[in-house]
Amino acid sequence: MIDLDKLSQLLNRPKRIVLLSHRNPDGDAIGSVLGMSYYLQGLGHQTKCILPSEYPVFFEWMRQAHDILIYDLSAAECEKAVESAELIFCMDFNSLDRIDRLGIKVLGSAAPKVMVDHHLDPEPFADIVFSDPGYSSTSEMVYHLITGMGGSDVLSTEVMEVLYTGIMTDTGSFHHNTSERVFNICAEFKRRGLDDSRIQELVLNSQPDKYLQLLGHCLYNRMELYPEKSFGLMYLTKEDYRSYDIKRGDTEGIINYLMMLRNVKVGALVMNQPSIIKLSMRSKGDISVQKICREHFGGGGHKNASGGFSKSSLDETLKKLREIMGVDKTVNT
Ligand code: 5GP
Ligand code: MN
Repeated sequence: MIDLDKLSQLLNRPKRIVLLSHRNPDGDAIGSVLGMSYYLQGLGHQTKCILPSEYPVFFEWMRQAHDILIYDLSAAECEKAVESAELIFCMDFNSLDRIDRLGIKVLGSAAPKVMVDHHLDPEPFADIVFSDPGYSSTSEMVYHLITGMGGSDVLSTEVMEVLYTGIMTDTGSFHHNTSERVFNICAEFKRRGLDDSRIQELVLNSQPDKYLQLLGHCLYNRMELYPEKSFGLMYLTKEDYRSYDIKRGDTEGIINYLMMLRNVKVGALVMNQPSIIKLSMRSKGDISVQKICREHFGGGGHKNASGGFSKSSLDETLKKLREIMGVDKTVNT
């Protein structure tokens, strides 16, 4: 656990604080950043939340979501905020390449840095580190931070709503990485009046029609199954991005359909996004996709849920992935 005394000391007078999370922010990234920010504002600090790229529309209901600075949209303002920060929180990421060019700014800043994160293999760039892959989510860690420093009275509805979002999304709606601790936290939220069903509706059941059309396309035209290696693969081409008008958040959850299959123990979704090829990988049991993403695709994450990227073509990336998994497409077709 983090040294709470040291952190409390850093927070003992009002400061300009920047809170950052990773590119392609998910529910845990935005939930942990906003949850921590609401708490710090309550202590009288001035906060600025920064994300490298835009968050999906199904998080727009969060209060202050619209105040988040997006580096892709306003780089200069983000850089200025980091330069003038007196304290920096790095939430839900543990390597500076996850925040693009902002990483250099963070490294160059004299402000103390606090890392709160639950991924494997942290880089040593922070002064105060709360890094533990035993937690379901960074939002769960924020719960422990703020209740550890301020007691349960700090749990306002808005704090609970965003932390619940992070816990819910990072556990796949309480499907994996759950613990007695997670359920106790959520029970406490519920006891304090959190409307959990409302959050599930806002985040999970608010997709546009094209989501199911895209899912159908993935399942029908873009799926390869290799039962002999318990491997399943889906991919999206550049043309798919255009014809289905795929935007941030639209591919969220698609990989989970692969994992529904009994014969799939490792699943991959390869996306030919407009500027880069992005990989999402999932596994069941003891197989580490983190190792695959780290060793072959410049990425990382968790043992059973990881991501990476590729600068080659889609065909070459798929070929590389099939080779790594020891499967042959010509046999499969
Ligand atoms: P997803 O597949 O949902 O995008 O990501 C799964 C997990 O892997 C998340 O915890 C995410 O933070 C991590 N991850 C995704 N892409 C990358 C990447 O390019 N680099 C690293 N280090 N982690 C990633
Ligand atoms: Mn997370």
